[in-house]
Amino acid sequence: MDPVEELRGIVGQIRDFMAAYMEVGFDPPEISQPALEYLEKGPEIPLIKEGPAGNKSDVPPAIHESPSSLTPEKASVPQLPSLPVKTVQLPGISEPETLEALEQSVQSCRRCRLGKYRETAVFGEGSSNARLVFIGPCPGESEEQSGRPFAGPDGELLTRIIEKGMGLRRSDVYVCNVIKCRPPEDRDFRRNEVETCMIHLKRQLDLIQPEVICTLGRTASKELLGKEFKVSEERGTWHSFRGIFVMPTFHHAYILRNPSRERQLKGLIWEDIQKIMKRLGLKKGKN
Ligand code: SF4
Repeated sequence: MDPVEELRGIVGQIRDFMAAYMEVGFDPPEISQPALEYLEKGPEIPLIKEGPAGNKSDVPPAIHESPSSLTPEKASVPQLPSLPVKTVQLPGISEPETLEALEQSVQSCRRCRLGKYRETAVFGEGSSNARLVFIGPCPGESEEQSGRPFAGPDGELLTRIIEKGMGLRRSDVYVCNVIKCRPPEDRDFRRNEVETCMIHLKRQLDLIQPEVICTLGRTASKELLGKEFKVSEERGTWHSFRGIFVMPTFHHAYILRNPSRERQLKGLIWEDIQKIMKRLGLKKGKN
């Protein structure tokens, strides 16, 4: 076989494998940036470096063909069959049967880059039979240190709403985040990280089977509902996630960041909570 054709075939195979592995959450920190760029951009980056004088005559001519000349017809690269990435089952995270088993697999999870940086994963807490689940975006410093979701000042606010507003104990509901590991320096998490971690949240919800989910803030609402989300415009209305009623409302940290609107925001959150209570047939102080 022509060596250039063979090389193209090998690069095509590597791309297919990389796409498949990345789709199931593989995040290869050990692969250098130029290599990743080559895998993503293909022929736009020269495969073989030019010599010091830039003399291309030493390089096989086909390497210098423009990207447009490398059409599938012309390159006729042998195609591998598509990998069945959607059905890949990875050891240790295949359908744990209890929340305890799922938590164990989350604590040892390294499916995305965040697993390398976390001190502990923040799985979630509450009743395994909860009718109501509150979901935030990801753990912060207080959560990581305590291993508990909503452990900081915004968590106190949530606890007051549950206990004083709804007349429940915090242990009667379930509280968790979309992402289980705190991003380093609280940076925004990346798309592949949230997509990878969603498998844990989905299983968590499958095991709890709540009647209502309350998403706290834009990020949790967006990731759960799978669309861009404006809390100020879309909160207070019912949505659905896998057949479960979803009520998005403001994240309590938003109140802390906007003290001048505290009264107004608390009023709006309370409106949303009352809708949840009505759907669950709860009456304040009588539950
Ligand atoms: S963020 Fe989620 S997917 Fe990534 S390592 Fe932590 S538990 Fe695993």
